[in-house]
Amino acid sequence: FAKAHLSTEHFGARQDTEQGEVQYEPYGNLGLWFDFAHHPELSRGIARGDMEGFMTRTKDMISDSVQFIKGVGPFRYKQLNKLGIYTIADLLGYFPFRYEDRSNIKPISQLKAGEFQTLKGEVLKMGLIRTRHKKMYIFEMAITDKSAVIYATWFNQPYMRRYFKVGDNVILYGKVERYGKLSIVNPEFEIIEEDSLQTIHMGRIVPIYRLAADVKQKFIRLTINQAIEEYIGKIADFIPPVIRESNNLSGLNHALKNIHFPKDFTQHGIARRRLVFDEFFFLELSLAIRKWKLKVEPKGISHSTNGSLSGNFIKVLPFELTPAQKRVIDEICRDMKSERVMHRLLQGDVGSGKTVVCALSMLVAVQSGYQACLMSPTEILAEQHFYNLRELMKSLNIRIALLVSSLPAKEKISVKNTIKEGSADIIIGTHALLQENVEFKNLSLVVIDEQHKFGVEQRNLLKQKGVNPDVLVVSATPIPRTLALTSYGDLDISVIDELPAERSNVRTYLIDEEKRELAYDLIREKIRQGRQGYIIYPLIDESLTLELKAAKKMYEKLKKEVFGDLRVGLIHGRLNKQERDFVMNEFRVHRIDILVSTTVIEVGIDIPNATFMLIEHAERFGLSQLHQIRGRIARSRHEGTCIVLSNIKATGSKERLSAFVNTTDGFKIAEEDLKLRGPGEFFGIRQHGFPEFKLADVTTDLDLLNCARRAAFEMVKSDPNLNKNPTVKAELVRRFGDAFKITVL
Ligand code: ADP
Ligand code: MG
Repeated sequence: FAKAHLSTEHFGARQDTEQGEVQYEPYGNLGLWFDFAHHPELSRGIARGDMEGFMTRTKDMISDSVQFIKGVGPFRYKQLNKLGIYTIADLLGYFPFRYEDRSNIKPISQLKAGEFQTLKGEVLKMGLIRTRHKKMYIFEMAITDKSAVIYATWFNQPYMRRYFKVGDNVILYGKVERYGKLSIVNPEFEIIEEDSLQTIHMGRIVPIYRLAADVKQKFIRLTINQAIEEYIGKIADFIPPVIRESNNLSGLNHALKNIHFPKDFTQHGIARRRLVFDEFFFLELSLAIRKWKLKVEPKGISHSTNGSLSGNFIKVLPFELTPAQKRVIDEICRDMKSERVMHRLLQGDVGSGKTVVCALSMLVAVQSGYQACLMSPTEILAEQHFYNLRELMKSLNIRIALLVSSLPAKEKISVKNTIKEGSADIIIGTHALLQENVEFKNLSLVVIDEQHKFGVEQRNLLKQKGVNPDVLVVSATPIPRTLALTSYGDLDISVIDELPAERSNVRTYLIDEEKRELAYDLIREKIRQGRQGYIIYPLIDESLTLELKAAKKMYEKLKKEVFGDLRVGLIHGRLNKQERDFVMNEFRVHRIDILVSTTVIEVGIDIPNATFMLIEHAERFGLSQLHQIRGRIARSRHEGTCIVLSNIKATGSKERLSAFVNTTDGFKIAEEDLKLRGPGEFFGIRQHGFPEFKLADVTTDLDLLNCARRAAFEMVKSDPNLNKNPTVKAELVRRFGDAFKITVL
C-alpha cells in the first residue's frame, strides 16, 4: 500500500544519545494503537486499513518510501515491490539468508568435491550443448583462476549464455562435484565488474539475498548498501536503553548495518542477537498486552470450588489422582474461583490423565449452578468423552448431553432444547456446538479439547455462547516450551508432567517394509494371548477418495489373505455414526481382534484390551502424531506393542523414526519434531497461526526468547497501554499492523 513520504517536521525533537543512536521524542501521545485494542478485529490482528491511517501520521523515518533512496526510481521501485519492499524499514528488514566470506576465497585447485563452496575465476570459454536422446540443453563454461579449471553447467537454461562472455570475472556458489572433471552444477553466480562499488561485492563478507524473477543480487545489495549509507546512524532505536543494557543488546543502527554488511562474524552475531530479540520482544509484547486485557477487562464468574459435587467425584474415582493432576486442578480451581476470566492451557502427555481434570473443572461449574461444555474436533472423540464422563459421573446425578451433527434431526432438536432450558449440565460436542441456534442457559466454562485443531474464530464463537465464561484449552500434543511461549504466551499454562504410576510400557519396533511378515507374526502372537489391536493406515486427508480406497484395499487383503482366521474390522472417518458405533462396539466387546483404522483413532480412543498396534507408512506421520497414536495402547496393565512399518531405504526415514522408537516422552518427541520439521509443520496443520520469524529460530534461540519475554511482560505490567513507551508502541503497530495472526482466544 502507498506509503507517504514524511518530512522531518513530522518527527519529534531530535536527541542524540551517548551511544550515537538518535532518538525522537514524539510529540504527545499517539493514542491510536490503543483504540485498536478495543476494536472487534483485535483478536484477528489490527486491520490493514486501520494501519494505513496510522502510517500517514507516524513520526518514524524508517517508514519513508524506498523511492527516497538515491538511485531508486519508478522502475527499481517496482522491482523492490516484487520482494515485498516498499519502505526503508522493509528494505533494511530484508535480511540476507546467507553470507559468503569473499575475503577469503579458496583457489579452485583447493576446492573439495561434495561441498557447497564459493569460487572466483575468469570465463575461459563457453558453449551450449544439446543432448541427442533427451533433447536437453546444457550450458557449460570453463572457468579458471590459474590454479585449476572448473566447469560450471546449467541444465535446461539455454538463456544462461546471454549473461556471460569470455573474459568475464565471475563468482560462483554451489555444490562442487568431480564427475571426471571438476564441476559445479546450476550455481548461483555474480559477474564482477571493475567499478568503484566493488568493495561491497568483493573482498569481504558479502550478504546473499533471496531473489524474485529478474531482480538481481547485485541490485538488491547495492540498494541496501545505499540505504545504509543514507539512514544508518539516523534511525531511532525503538528499544529503550534500559532494556538494551540489561539484555546486552547492540543498538539498532549497529545491528542493521552488521546484519547486512558484517565486519566479521562476531559483529554479525551481535547484530543477529539484537534483531532476534526484537522479533521475540514485539511478539511477546502483543501477547502480554492481550493477556493483560483478558485479565482486566470483563468480570467473569466466581465459581464455588469446594462444593459437594467435586468432592464426591474425587471420592468415587477408581484411582488416586497423581500429584501433578492435583497441582493442575488447584491451579484451575484458583482461576475458576476468581472473578477474573480464566484463560488456561492444559498440557500433558498422552495418557497423563487430562480427562479427569477436565471433568472435575466442569463439575465445579455445575456445582456453582452453571453449565459447562466440552468441544472436541471429531465426533468419535466427542462420543468417547461422552461415554467416559457418563461412566465416571454416573453416581453424581449429573445430566450430560451429546451434540454432534450426525444425530438424527429430532434428537438434535431435543438436545438443543435441553441445553437452552438448562436441563443439561454438561454438554459434550463437536463443531455442532458452534451453530447459531445452539443456545445455553448459563454457560460458565468452555473446555476445548485438542485445541490446535480449532481456529481462533471457532474458539471465540463458543466463548460467546456464555457471558465471560472461563476457558480451558487442552492440548494432547505436548508443545515444546518455545512454541508454548510464542503461540500461547498469553495463556496461563498448566502442565501435567507425570503419568499415573501403573501405566504399562509400550515397546516400539521399527520394521522394514521388506520384513513385514515379522510384524504379522508379532500380531498373531499377541492375539493368541487374548489381546486386540489396531492396524493404522495413514490418510493425509480423510476426504480424498483415492487414499481411502488404498486403506480399504489393504483391509480386504488383510482380512482375506493375511489374517483369514481372525476377526478383522474397519473404521474410518467417512462412516456414519451408526456404522462407526457398531464397529467400535464390536471391538469394545471383543468381537473384533484387529481393527484396521485410518487416523480417526489418533485421539482419545480408550480400550484397555487393545494393546498392539501396527502403523503403516509411518514416515508419513509427524513424530508427535505417531506418539499420539501410540498413546492408544498405553492404557492398561498389559505391556503394549507398537510396530512402525516403513520402507526405510526408499524414504530415508530411519533416523527420524528411530527418535520415535527410542523414547516415550512426548515432550522430547515434540522437541525433536520441531527441530526436524519446523514450527509451521509441527502441529500438522498450518492454519493455527504460528508467527513467522525472519531471523529467530525457535529451536535454538530459547534464551533470547526468555529475555525478550521477561522484558515485554515487565513493560506491559508497568505501562499496559504503552503510553510511556511511544516508540515501542509505534514499532509494535508497524510490525503487527498487517494481519497479525496468532493463536489466541
Ligand atoms: P489423556 O491425558 O491422554 O487424555 P486420559 O485422561 O484419557 O489421558 O487418561 C488415560 C487413562 O488413565 C484413562 O483410562 C484414565 O481413566 C486413567 N487415569 C487418569 N488418571 C489416573 C490416575 N491418577 N491413576 C490411574 N489412572 C488414571
Ligand atoms: Mg484426552
